[in-house]
Amino acid sequence: MTARTQWTEATAAVEQAASILIVTHVSPDGDAIGSLLGLALALRERGKKVDAAVDGGTPDFLKFLPGAETVRDRLKGGRWDVMVSVDASDEERTGVCGAFGRARSQRVINLDHHLTNTAFGDIFLVMPEAVSATEIVYRWLVEMQHPVSQPVASALLAGLVTDTMGFRTQNVTAGTFGIVQALMAAGAPLAEITARALVAKPYSLIELWKRVLPSVHLADGVISALITQDDLTAAGIRDVTDGGLVSLLASVEEARVAVVFKQKSDGAVEISLRSKPGFDVGQVALELGGGGHAQASGATIPGPLDAAAARVIPLLEGIAR
Ligand code: 5GP
Ligand code: MN
Repeated sequence: MTARTQWTEATAAVEQAASILIVTHVSPDGDAIGSLLGLALALRERGKKVDAAVDGGTPDFLKFLPGAETVRDRLKGGRWDVMVSVDASDEERTGVCGAFGRARSQRVINLDHHLTNTAFGDIFLVMPEAVSATEIVYRWLVEMQHPVSQPVASALLAGLVTDTMGFRTQNVTAGTFGIVQALMAAGAPLAEITARALVAKPYSLIELWKRVLPSVHLADGVISALITQDDLTAAGIRDVTDGGLVSLLASVEEARVAVVFKQKSDGAVEISLRSKPGFDVGQVALELGGGGHAQASGATIPGPLDAAAARVIPLLEGIAR
């Protein structure tokens, strides 16, 4: 959807609410957890009772963020006046926690920056031009005239750093650095956040890459790699992840589009897509039932792995010309 920012309605909804639930997308990244925590901490500072939840809880590499220990990995009971969904382009992406919360909340605020947002919910804070969901949370706090504390600033900066890959994406503007300046002035440690949320990798990922790199193939501007369940198990990795391999592939000069196919334990295939500016993988992901941005997107499609690759690679060759 195009931009729609109902600041006044969203602020009134949370001001009138006694209880608020915040959810985000499954397989949460730095922007998902950053926007979840930044908003949760700020609303608690305003005296609200806030629950924050995402299936599986906070991933280990983001546990250094303030308030991470308050994120629940499942919801059992409770009712909320307002649910805020952050950084999720559609309802399905909010997983079990999102479905549970939606059924037990009066109203839903949809706060997101994906161009593929499906316009679910009742009140919209959707800005596709925002570099991260945390940028929208920041703008909302400014609208609310809520001073940004050090913990809130750190959580919000984590989303800006990770979704822009360290301020290297095409959508970064001078305005982005205005927000960074405000968050750093509030005490957010840029270098530490970058090191921990963006750069640091466990050795198990190198073990995974050692196994997976022989599957890399480059043809017609499309570079691809395949990750099997065996690869993940052998590397001792429990999540279905490429650990950033798709970004490494996308950095190859001869490639215009990069894709990594990841086999899930149920046989379905998760795909991660990246592209150079001028080539839109967001639309391809949308066609495949997923979503994302022009330069970074993803979807989950039926297996087996080889059939998924045979279906998707021609679509990508079509846009990589
Ligand atoms: P990643 O490759 O890092 O998992 O995801 C890249 C981008 O695509 C992120 O913005 C993420 O939100 C989006 N994305 C990944 N998988 C899916 C999916 O299955 N559905 C939707 N709607 N978006 C996805
Ligand atoms: Mn995001």
